[in-house]
Amino acid sequence: MTRKVAFLDRDGTINVDHGYVHKTTDWEFTKDAIHALRRLTDFGFAIAVVTNQSGIASGRYSSADVDQLHEFMQLTLENLGVEIDAIAVCPHHQDDRCKCRKPQLGLAADVQQQLNEDIEYAASWTIGDKLSDIEFGRKLGTHTALIRSRYWNELELDSDSTLVVESLSEAVDQIVST
Ligand SMILES: [Mg+2]
Ligand SMILES: [Zn+2]
Repeated sequence: MTRKVAFLDRDGTINVDHGYVHKTTDWEFTKDAIHALRRLTDFGFAIAVVTNQSGIASGRYSSADVDQLHEFMQLTLENLGVEIDAIAVCPHHQDDRCKCRKPQLGLAADVQQQLNEDIEYAASWTIGDKLSDIEFGRKLGTHTALIRSRYWNELELDSDSTLVVESLSEAVDQIVST
């Protein structure tokens, strides 16, 4: 059996990017994110969170802090009937040259292992607010949606094959209507 997967960036996509978010008090879902996650599930997507957390490598917070925050995120969503199927974290710094920091593809292998199913990449989507998210998705062979953010500008966008949106919610609106 194969699954189509929504590979979702975390900060700036699922939650508001307040900068190195690692406490539950700093956790704020982006507008209509919860509803968007539910619709992705209803539409048959496995939900995978793929997130670079270099704050761990730099000592701003620990991987236990990140795990706790993710438990909080999952519990909050579960109480609303929304399940996250996989969470994959890169704890490294850019200089570590690891194989998991997006746009490297290591986190996708992690997701595949957690799902324990083959992924149908051509039917999958990657959604994020940085160009590194889009590069990750392109290399995987998924569709891609890029959320407008301070991290990129139109001039850097070298292709029109990426859906450009204001939010996760808008991305999902478009995905489920195509
Ligand atoms: Mg982000
Ligand atoms: Zn890494």
